[in-house]
Amino acid sequence: MSKILLQHRILATINQSLDLGTARLVAEQLEVDIAAPEEVARAAVERFSDREQFKQDSASGQLRPRPPVVTVLGHVDHGKTSLLDAIRETSVAAGEAGGITQSIGASVVTRQDRQITFIDTPGHEAFTAMRARGANITDLAVLVVAANDGVMPQTVEAIQHVQNAGVPILVAVNKVDLEDANPDRAKQQLAERGVVVEDFGGDVVCVPVSAKTGQGVDHLLEMIILVTDLHEPRANPDRPAEATIIDSQMDKGRGPVASVLVQEGTLRVQDHFVVGPVAGRVRALVDDRGLRVDSCGPGLPVQVLGLPEVVTAGDRLQVVESEKEARVRAESTLFAQRSGRAEVPKVSLAELSRQSDQTVRDLDLVVKCDTQGALEALRGSLLKFADPLVRLRLVYEGVGPISVADVDLAAAANAIVIGFNVRPDANARVAADNQGIDVRTYDVVYQITEDIEKAIRGLHEPTFEEVFEGRAEVRARIRVPRSGLIAGCQVTDGKISRGSTVAVLRDGREVQRARVESLRRFKDDVREVAQGYECGVDLGGYQDFLEGDVLESFVVQQRNR
Ligand code: GDP
Repeated sequence: MSKILLQHRILATINQSLDLGTARLVAEQLEVDIAAPEEVARAAVERFSDREQFKQDSASGQLRPRPPVVTVLGHVDHGKTSLLDAIRETSVAAGEAGGITQSIGASVVTRQDRQITFIDTPGHEAFTAMRARGANITDLAVLVVAANDGVMPQTVEAIQHVQNAGVPILVAVNKVDLEDANPDRAKQQLAERGVVVEDFGGDVVCVPVSAKTGQGVDHLLEMIILVTDLHEPRANPDRPAEATIIDSQMDKGRGPVASVLVQEGTLRVQDHFVVGPVAGRVRALVDDRGLRVDSCGPGLPVQVLGLPEVVTAGDRLQVVESEKEARVRAESTLFAQRSGRAEVPKVSLAELSRQSDQTVRDLDLVVKCDTQGALEALRGSLLKFADPLVRLRLVYEGVGPISVADVDLAAAANAIVIGFNVRPDANARVAADNQGIDVRTYDVVYQITEDIEKAIRGLHEPTFEEVFEGRAEVRARIRVPRSGLIAGCQVTDGKISRGSTVAVLRDGREVQRARVESLRRFKDDVREVAQGYECGVDLGGYQDFLEGDVLESFVVQQRNR
């Protein structure tokens, strides 16, 4: 390759980047195909634009019902794992090692011929971590609340995360077998948090259950089907598969494996695929019962063998037509990642002050404080904050140090994290660095609002810009009594208007700026003259224009930043 470069008199070392043009030249001679990351990304978007594809599939009647995908969330020890177990009618909790099935990150439950897919990892951290990577795989969140404990901090956190993701909620009030169970109190507390269940006049379905005795579990499944049916989860099984990685690890005997949830199409053994910068081919598929299968349709989980390396949870797996396509796309993604172009710009106060258009934007905040009292105070002053260009929204507020979950949520919601009297823990700091999340910590309330104000102030400073209006050619110098010289022009482009500024161009170069003092069509004073018409332009004091000059007219507009 360096030989070819030398032929073109380009000196480049092996680790030096080439511009696209040069790279193309070399590629041509080597008879290989290359594409710019942007092109590949565009092609990928064109090909995999979900919404478009969905519309097409929908129009051609190719969408089929698929199993709903459910995540279980709630406070620690409220019985998420037990409930999943009760649902599976296995007892992983009683002895995880004893379970016959091998976990592939999700499991499928069948109730009266209807399948439901449950994501195995309970908890909102997993849920939000997925979202942070752009994967919204859940159709329904089952919020588990223990009837004896009621709403606890992580219940509140879970509610906020789910509402933020716009995923419907179904409440399972668990542990109703306990003597001190008080489901009504739990429901009341939920209502105070905006989750109003049906018997409290709301529209959230609530099912009392006991993961221990199995009471209500069947009813819960029935309700899950009922609620998800309202949203009619559908997908086209007859197209190349798209899936989300829910888990990936190195297996001693089998090498790198990944559990995926197929979302569109059908994944088949032998399929070529790409996951971010990794290309591979499906060697084998294993379902949630540990059985080898040939294919897996949408809404269902499956374990994939045949990856060259472990991949990242939340990433997308896409089936492509050939090994070559897989390789090219994986390499392009890798290249884009290395050159930093794959990164999506994250919101930050510094970025905010650089933006310059006039659109009203939302500034989403994840707020953590040391005490509930401080939180109330801070919320008060943030909500009082009023600005015509910026709407502050609190997507999450909580007490305690800034955690990885907070950073993930900020990444998912494109928010910034504000800590008041609290700091990020070590893991959160790393996560924030990796994901480029703006994390700010303060110990005085007014500094927070002051910082935000400072960032916003930049948006209000006026700037001026020249807006092109039109072009006219000088055809004659006309002497007019009292006015001196007038430019007899033909408007060749756009329009010329009275009061506008013109740049006088001679051989393409600007020789003078002048103002259009008056504008005439025949004897009449006019306000503007459009393309194709002739007119007389009075440029005031400037009379040195020549035949053949071009007048380029523009108006100067003030633009609020
Ligand atoms: P998780 O942290 O939310 O996954 O909660 P677990 O499923 O690990 O359950 C926490 C504890 O509550 C365990 O000791 C379970 O045996 C117990 N538990 C879970 N569900 C029930 C239930 O319905 N009734 C009773 N009495 N105990 C339960």
